[in-house]
Amino acid sequence: MKAFRGEILSVPDDPAQGGEIRHFADGLLLVEDGIIVSCGPFAEPKGASVERLPGLIVPGFVDAHVHYPQIERIASHGEQLMQWLERHIFPAEQAFAGRAHADQVAAFFLDELLRHGTTSALVFATVHAGSVDALFESALARDMRIVSGKVLMDLGPEGLSDSVASGRADTEALIARWRGRGRLGYAVTPRFVPTSSEAQLEDAGALVAAHPDVLMHTHLSENPGEIEFVASRFPDAADYLDVYDRFGLVGPRSVFAHCVHMSDRALARMAEAGSGIAFCPTSNMFLGSGLFDLAQADRHGVGIGIGTDIGAGTTLSVLRTLSEAYKTCQLRGTSLDPFRALHLATAGGARVMGIADRVGALLPGQEADFIVLDEAATPLLARRCSGASLHDRLFALQVLGDDRAVAATYLRGSRVGR
Ligand SMILES: [Zn+2]
Repeated sequence: MKAFRGEILSVPDDPAQGGEIRHFADGLLLVEDGIIVSCGPFAEPKGASVERLPGLIVPGFVDAHVHYPQIERIASHGEQLMQWLERHIFPAEQAFAGRAHADQVAAFFLDELLRHGTTSALVFATVHAGSVDALFESALARDMRIVSGKVLMDLGPEGLSDSVASGRADTEALIARWRGRGRLGYAVTPRFVPTSSEAQLEDAGALVAAHPDVLMHTHLSENPGEIEFVASRFPDAADYLDVYDRFGLVGPRSVFAHCVHMSDRALARMAEAGSGIAFCPTSNMFLGSGLFDLAQADRHGVGIGIGTDIGAGTTLSVLRTLSEAYKTCQLRGTSLDPFRALHLATAGGARVMGIADRVGALLPGQEADFIVLDEAATPLLARRCSGASLHDRLFALQVLGDDRAVAATYLRGSRVGR
């Protein structure tokens, strides 16, 4: 039995829908075999020595959309989505045909996630099956909760496209190879409509239907140029989402990154289907894609998580990403509450990924993935947080914090990294 004493905060359910804020100024987290036994006000535990954790203990962050093969192309200048992909990203992804390169980048990426306090993530690999093997092997060695999949893109550029048959065969083989291992999960991953044929999208729908334990992970309505292209290819579709819907890709296990330019029809359909959104503010800002409309998504009750979307995103820090989420909402005329922001970045993302029973809320029975945030990580943060309310300290951490504010990361009750 492990016992951790400190200030503990978690937001299991969305405060916008009346979810409670669980806060223990002097709390106790009891962990046995990596699983949370209890989380509440401090009381001297029997049969366990207590470790004091200075700082604010919150659930490990959940990154609901990120591309590990793009990490070395972060901060690539000058383009919007389609040109950025062609100029910067597709060449970088081609290098993942080599397994040694994939292994090396996967290890770096996962260590960086942990250093930034992210313990679970929904991750794009590349078209190469080996890129998934590399990521899963590294994640297994670190005991992280990672969901990923080989990218399907039979209409991709030369050197970076599969075929309908090879896409299906590789996906089936990866699911069979990795099912039930560690804390890994598989996501059928068509890149987006522009890079898949109708036959491949149909196949993706069949794969999702055939495997009730896998997710479907893709992009939706990110950039005006992309949306126009999809509309010209499918002129009789109601909207971009409707194209995915035709192929059985809109369901309760579907996660759509971005959703910046959405019709009410599409959001209503997503809510009805139980699909989730990964809100990626730094990426949307960086590529000039637009401003996600949280209030519009809320009106329809669609589940939402937070994505860093590296390499269009500009940081792996979920704290910094929440700062940009706040600003996006301000530009849309709404205010994102810091407790709700924490919820979206933890339990909200976990729900979208179908792992909310395992992580994200520090509830008994969940895996003890948590982090310790340091309110004195920088002189300015220390000054702003001194004597401030929990609300103001949490907001200051989101606006001023980054990896420096993550003092420690714990996976299943064991400290990792630094
Ligand atoms: Zn993306």
